Amino acid sequence: MSDILIGNGTVVTGGEHNQLIEHGAVLVRGGRIAALGSDVALLQQYPGAHYIDAHGGLIMPGLLCTHTHFYSAFARGMAVAGEAPRNFPEILERLWWRLDKALTLEDTRASVDVYMADAIRSGVTCVVDHHASPNAIEGSLDAIADAVEDAGIRACLAYEVSDRDGLEAIAGSMRENERFISSLRAGRSELAQTGMISASYGLHASFTLSSATLERCAAGADRLGVGFHIHVAEDISDENDSMTRYQKRVVERLEAHLILGPRSIAAHCVHVNSGEIGRLAETQTNCVHNPRSNMNNAVGRAPVEEMLAAGVNVGLGTDGFSMNMLQEMKAAYLLHKLALADPRAMPGNLVWKMAFQNNARIVDAIFRPFCADFPRVGELSVGAAADIVLLDYVPPTPMSEENFPWHMIFGMDGLHVNSTMVAGRWLMRNRQLLTVDEARIAARARELSQALWQRM
Ligand SMILES: [Zn+2]
Repeated sequence: MSDILIGNGTVVTGGEHNQLIEHGAVLVRGGRIAALGSDVALLQQYPGAHYIDAHGGLIMPGLLCTHTHFYSAFARGMAVAGEAPRNFPEILERLWWRLDKALTLEDTRASVDVYMADAIRSGVTCVVDHHASPNAIEGSLDAIADAVEDAGIRACLAYEVSDRDGLEAIAGSMRENERFISSLRAGRSELAQTGMISASYGLHASFTLSSATLERCAAGADRLGVGFHIHVAEDISDENDSMTRYQKRVVERLEAHLILGPRSIAAHCVHVNSGEIGRLAETQTNCVHNPRSNMNNAVGRAPVEEMLAAGVNVGLGTDGFSMNMLQEMKAAYLLHKLALADPRAMPGNLVWKMAFQNNARIVDAIFRPFCADFPRVGELSVGAAADIVLLDYVPPTPMSEENFPWHMIFGMDGLHVNSTMVAGRWLMRNRQLLTVDEARIAARARELSQALWQRM
């Protein structure tokens, strides 16, 4: 692969000290960033590189999403029979647990394809997925991995273990996690070692997991050297269940079962109290905030600023909404202000930090067990991954390092993304998807989703 020099744009470095380099350029070599600086200087230094003109737009690190469910693709526009669900347990029982039970391996694959096209269009270069298909468990993570590999983005996969479908499903889903994780060390090891695919041990949530199941999963994950990906206190019913049945808060219960830790992801944490926040910080467990999903399910507002202040690493995910992370950033920015009736809540720079730096820490923690040389993501720096997006964004007001997050929130959208690169490979150029056939994917998904809706 010859060197690629992306120039004639404003380079946004991201990272701890975000810098904007006007008339900047980035040199890509072997899947990583080899140099960045002024356009003129790099052009002189690397005359043989293939030059890509950013046409005065932005050259940015790719966006990251640290909690989602590819299998939710077929839920778009789906009606829930009968009266509208009144609360979160009813939403799970009448929507999600009926949809996931109807999924075949073919549906799973087609759902992932839909998300791949959406991710690439939205400039998302790495996604952390959480999967469930209780009647098509075996091979489901391979079906997802195949779709992800074809699309060319980075992804971390997990199958959600849950007691809700009985002993056979528990055993089958544990086997699926453990088999797939092992395959990343032998079989699919090249994809894992190059930092394209990783896995964590999937668990649904405290209220659907018995102590016996948690113990068995903890032993399995420990043996395989991975952390967990689990929903934590998403709704108050999760805390109520844990207090009633185990006389423990959810986080305390999970800590007692060795589920927490620096490689684990606790999605949501809407109802955690200060004691639980302390345990999440102490165990260095990662948390993922999903504001659009929380608002949609009316489960409440996660104490995100409290968690960040206590030292918890909180990232940002889409939880089955579209892959448009710029929309998720806007939702995060707005939700806390309204809920707290305080316009000072959740400033733009904090949203930016969650979406890039904190998400990058999560991605690093879950990819590194499979790839010792995993490159930095979420920033453009020498040696970092060449996961780059180009945006057609021309600021109508002054734009600086300091106010950049507010330009993102108020001015930019996923629709500004015109090109997406992962590991030095273009997945979209000038809005043309290069690795997936969007029209074919949508046609196939429409066909399969209609059949699935009828089976539900
Ligand atoms: Zn979720």
